[in-house]
Amino acid sequence: MSKKFVYLFSEADSSNKALFGGKGANLAEMTKMGLPIPQGFIVTTEACTKYYADGEKISADIEKQIFEGIAAVEKIENKKFGDPANPLLVSVRSGSRASMPGMMDTILNLGLNDKAVEGLAKLSGNARFAYDSYRRFIQMYSDVVMEQKKEVYEHLLDEFKAKKGVKLDTELSADDLKEIVAQFKANYKANQGKEFPQDPKEQIMGAVRAVFRSWNNHRAVVYRRLNDVPHDWGTAVNIQAMVFGNMGDTSGTGVAFTRDPSTGENKLYGEYLMNAQGEDVVAGIRTPNPISQLENQNPAIYKQFVDITQKLEKHYRDMQDMEFTIEQGKLYMLQTRSGKRTAKAALKIAVDLVAEKMIDEKSALTMIDPKQLDALLHPQFEAKALKDADKTSLVAKGLPASPGAACGQICFTAERAVEMHKEGKAVVLVRLETSPEDIEGMHVAQGILTARGGMTSHAAVVARGMGTCCVAGCDKVVVNEAAKKCTIAGKDYKEGDFISLDGSTGNVYASKVATVPAELTGDFGTIMAWADKYRALKIRTNADTPADSKQAVKFGAEGIGLTRTEHMFFEPDRIPAIRKMILAKTEADRRKALDVLLPMQRKDFVGIFEAMEGRPVTIRFLDPPLHEFVPHNEKDMKALAADMGITFEEVKNAVDSLHEFNPMMGHRGCRLAVSYPEIAEMQTRAVIEAAIEVNKKAKFKVVPEIMIPLVGEIKELKYVKSVVTKTADEIIAKAKSDLKYMVGTMIEIPRAAITADRIAEEAEFFSFGTNDLTQMTYGFSRDDAAKFLEDYYAKKIFEQDPFAKIDFDGVGELIKMAVEKGRKTRKGIKLGICGEHGGDPASVEFCHGVGLDYVSCSPFRVPIARLAAAQANIRNPRK
Ligand code: PEP
Ligand code: MG
Repeated sequence: MSKKFVYLFSEADSSNKALFGGKGANLAEMTKMGLPIPQGFIVTTEACTKYYADGEKISADIEKQIFEGIAAVEKIENKKFGDPANPLLVSVRSGSRASMPGMMDTILNLGLNDKAVEGLAKLSGNARFAYDSYRRFIQMYSDVVMEQKKEVYEHLLDEFKAKKGVKLDTELSADDLKEIVAQFKANYKANQGKEFPQDPKEQIMGAVRAVFRSWNNHRAVVYRRLNDVPHDWGTAVNIQAMVFGNMGDTSGTGVAFTRDPSTGENKLYGEYLMNAQGEDVVAGIRTPNPISQLENQNPAIYKQFVDITQKLEKHYRDMQDMEFTIEQGKLYMLQTRSGKRTAKAALKIAVDLVAEKMIDEKSALTMIDPKQLDALLHPQFEAKALKDADKTSLVAKGLPASPGAACGQICFTAERAVEMHKEGKAVVLVRLETSPEDIEGMHVAQGILTARGGMTSHAAVVARGMGTCCVAGCDKVVVNEAAKKCTIAGKDYKEGDFISLDGSTGNVYASKVATVPAELTGDFGTIMAWADKYRALKIRTNADTPADSKQAVKFGAEGIGLTRTEHMFFEPDRIPAIRKMILAKTEADRRKALDVLLPMQRKDFVGIFEAMEGRPVTIRFLDPPLHEFVPHNEKDMKALAADMGITFEEVKNAVDSLHEFNPMMGHRGCRLAVSYPEIAEMQTRAVIEAAIEVNKKAKFKVVPEIMIPLVGEIKELKYVKSVVTKTADEIIAKAKSDLKYMVGTMIEIPRAAITADRIAEEAEFFSFGTNDLTQMTYGFSRDDAAKFLEDYYAKKIFEQDPFAKIDFDGVGELIKMAVEKGRKTRKGIKLGICGEHGGDPASVEFCHGVGLDYVSCSPFRVPIARLAAAQANIRNPRK
């Protein structure tokens, strides 16, 4: 027997969402529960995968099974497909394994044609209803199957209403609708060059094909990328006998949630319309009634409905989102699914369900999407204002580089940002790209928008660290800093104009969108406490200042996994000092510059050690890609020349001589310390002296972890480590201190991973620098990859940004290898990750799986990592 691709609701295994999709599996389950479900069948996700494998064709075998499915439904419903006397009409809907609300397409009233519509009119005694259904079907079929915009039809309808002098569709008579159907069909023919298909079999095959095709429409592809849904899952198709909510005043349709999806409140929430079909409720043409009103209108139906909603919530042990139709006084359930909800609602519902003893703590933790927590930690747009802005002022979309909502006046330089901030204005910094000189401006800005750069560009990394909203790599923005203006999608904006950014979606709005501050509710604390109870991974943070460290501890960080010491020199009064050090020609000059840096570093380290109160702190030695630090413009070069007592030409020559074709692979990391060991000496001194100072006063004991970056060869590490230990041991001996410290390395160059057994001879810990490890494993520049990765997503070469989610097969294998090799040489070697991936839930799960000790991420992602780590351990407990 050939493979089965089509199953009746009554045949399908409701536990197999992979094969039947969420909607199909739930329809099967509701059928089993004996609920009032119009019957139908499911075309499996395997049929969708086969459709693509066969070059976008539905095989004869599958077509045959679909027709057999129709025949079976005809028997159950006692109607016939295309029968003018008693026509069976169906809905055709997509339904994938993961629910993708509104992402794919739906067709209603399929099976209608010129004859069947008359049959339907006679049978229902309601010609108005029959023709209304037919015109809707033509409209949807053209839109979804033939890809002709439905606006054309809406326009025709509006014109007709205007001519008749009526406002509402319901005011149109049967004859009016008959005329509209004729107009719609004529429009269809004019547009498609053929008649509207009259054969229901042709209609249904067109609809199934369209649903398969919709799996790959742009919005579905983007949705999957953002929500980590694999492209190869495919969608199922649900074909279900129609019931009608537009059969008159005793009919209606609606949607409802068992709890409020925006607050989580345990109260039936929803809306409905009488004498309408599903699309009317969501389309916003008629204003629906709150569900509670149904109690007055039809108390018996309302009671039956409430009973069913409660039954479903208890059954699925989660908040349900349901669609229903009332056909001439009889209630039908069309679908149920776990309802989408805001982050706030997600926490409340999870906590409430535990209190109501419906689920346990572990299930509560696994039902929250860790990424969603983000929204609770940053300011947010006011919900209604955002909805309006989506319709009226959305002008561009970039990378959602750092979440949050920002609204402010445009400025194009960091200096202007600071000035405008001092004037009490909220500002959004719009730059081609950002550099360390911009840090102060970035700090005062509500949000940052850059035309260039990816998820790990300077702007993105720094903004995430600061918890500032950032949209990066938005190539629709053309910045003209000199003229103090930018062009977005063809329109000019000048300094002072209002703009709003959504750092969670990458959306850019050319208007003022109201924001509200973040709220950390009690439920949030409860969930975090449960997460801590069930996780095995420790969670650290990437923090460069005492303020960030404190913030991270508040969010639950158990240590610092990465302090980027070069970031401590971003501030305007410090950057000259590091520039002098970089540009020094002789060791003596360099030592002089280092002497200026030493007290600054020591003070910073004291602040961080104190803020962390004895929790582990990993300090990474200088790793500045030089291009980020040298002055670029004449003004800055002149200032530096004056400061250094040399000529502008000398500075310019020095800058030119430092020019690198690929600074990310240039003279940075341990390579700098190899050339100039005095830098490592100074930094060791700063760390060790700070630790000794803090340990003298504090109740806790600091054990600093010194981390050497960009090591690829054991001898590099050995050399730099010898500088560190010699310096440190001398200082400790001289101070007669008992300070302990560790020296370890980052694994961020593929060669380091491959030779990790050798590296572990010297390194007391590894921290995976997956930003550079990804860059060098793929050979994609971190600074430039965003430009072409879009093409990779469009061509389905990549499903995900490898700089955001660990590439398990390549980079992941290197990590696994390094873990094994490292542990072989040094059994208890401490292992962590500090690349941007440390805050990505899927990557956290990977890190749990390969047995790392901790993940480290920016302060605002710590709660996300805590929850993700708990989920990983619940799903795959560590021994
Ligand atoms: C890394 O490469 O992953 C890392 C954490 O270091 P940086 O981003 O500073 O290069
Ligand atoms: Mg690195």
